[in-house]
Amino acid sequence: MSAFDYDLFVIGAGSGGVRAARIAAGYGARVAVAEEYRIGGTCVIRGCVPKKLYVYASRFRDDFEDAAGFGWTVPPARFDWPTLVAAKEKEISRLSGIYAANLEKAGVEMISSRAVLTGPNAVALSNGRRVSAKVILVATGGSPVMEPAIPGCDFAISSNEIFDLPKFPQRLIVVGGGYIAVEFASVFARLGAQVTQVFRADNILRGFDGDLRTHLSDAMRQAGVALKPGVLPTRIDRAGEAFRVTFSNGEACEADQILVATGRRPHTKGLGLETAGVGMKHDGAVIVDERSCTNVPSIYAVGDVTNRINLTPVAIREGHAFADNVFGGKDMTVDHRNVPSAVFTTPEIGTIGLTEEEARRDHDVVDVYSATFRPMKATLSGRAEKTFMKILVDGRTDRVLGVHLLGHETGEMAQLLAIPVRMGATKSDFDATMALHPTASEELVTMRTRSARHERGSA
Ligand code: NDP
Repeated sequence: MSAFDYDLFVIGAGSGGVRAARIAAGYGARVAVAEEYRIGGTCVIRGCVPKKLYVYASRFRDDFEDAAGFGWTVPPARFDWPTLVAAKEKEISRLSGIYAANLEKAGVEMISSRAVLTGPNAVALSNGRRVSAKVILVATGGSPVMEPAIPGCDFAISSNEIFDLPKFPQRLIVVGGGYIAVEFASVFARLGAQVTQVFRADNILRGFDGDLRTHLSDAMRQAGVALKPGVLPTRIDRAGEAFRVTFSNGEACEADQILVATGRRPHTKGLGLETAGVGMKHDGAVIVDERSCTNVPSIYAVGDVTNRINLTPVAIREGHAFADNVFGGKDMTVDHRNVPSAVFTTPEIGTIGLTEEEARRDHDVVDVYSATFRPMKATLSGRAEKTFMKILVDGRTDRVLGVHLLGHETGEMAQLLAIPVRMGATKSDFDATMALHPTASEELVTMRTRSARHERGSA
């Protein structure tokens, strides 16, 4: 008989926590998961899934317009926000239900309660119960950062609220230049809002390949988003039902909503980690080793709460590896290199590996291959759009270091490109692969002309 109530107690039923709980239970562990909100976490409830559904909704605008070039007459299209919100809610409820059913099938006990650590093996629940566990997994994710803290900042909303606004914002101000900011700016502009995006840097998406950033900002401007680099709000005042926003450049304008998307922070406040002796970084991220173990041997952490790479599939891998190691007797680590990523703007970004800036920093000789072309669909639709593709190659070994794409379905392409790039494919491997015609991705195996060669020390 174990001295503990559970073998594993998971705090947080998001992607990482749910996977870890199910796999551990599959190994015969007695597992409980505590969740204070809805099962599914950020990804299912207010992140990846609802966001992608809204991206699909937004892209119909272009489809309706483009159809004319192919002979279709489409009656004037009308968009109804409450219909989309309700449809989204139905789908995420369905998914949340599937997560719950899978946990139940695996024999995991679900506890709808907030959980706080009270020691290395002890948890207090908001329903008054106190439980003990041999191992505790912290998988509480992250929460939005609302910066800058200016007068009236409480009037602004985060990505948590934007999905369920009772009324469609005809005038939207987006603060920030990262993933969330550009995705929502792109979505709401296509759904019909007048969007202004302000951010502190000189361009959107810091950390992405420089050419991608330039091409995407051009495309967003073309789609009607007013991009304002180097500008932040300095105060927000009520103006009847709307808001008046004053900016650092002295300008001011009215908006129906202000979305602040200035990053996310590990969700560790008030979780009792200090009481349990768990080490954290200055931003609240739980410090873990390569097996996701904290400095307290009975406490582990996976996903956004560790602020390694804040993406759903990474959290799932970390949760799975944790359960395999601790309850399945395996020795697994998660490879955090070459993680593909997409930004679901329109056009979207798909990317894998080093950016040109990183490649030039880390390698002596870098060959750059790039192509900008008009997608075939745009020939008849007449849409002024461009697809951009770039391959970065180690000039000494011919190995592909990174691929950066902007255009239709480039997220799908990046997922597949992640396989050869991770396997160490060379540019010659790409070149030896037969093209599939007519596709946009055939460009990846037919790009022969180097657009630049950078040797260390050259400009
Ligand atoms: P990001 O870190 O991507 O972007 C944060 C933005 O806020 C940057 O433009 C940053 O500016 C700005 N910023 C940060 N602090 C301040 C401040 N104090 N004042 C003004 N501006 C500030 O965060 P997001 O919130 O967009 O997304 C969080 C994470 O969620 C992402 O990093 C990603 O891991 C994940 N995510 C992934 C998605 C996907 O895979 N498609 C989609 C959405 C989210 P600067 O550039 O100058 O630092």
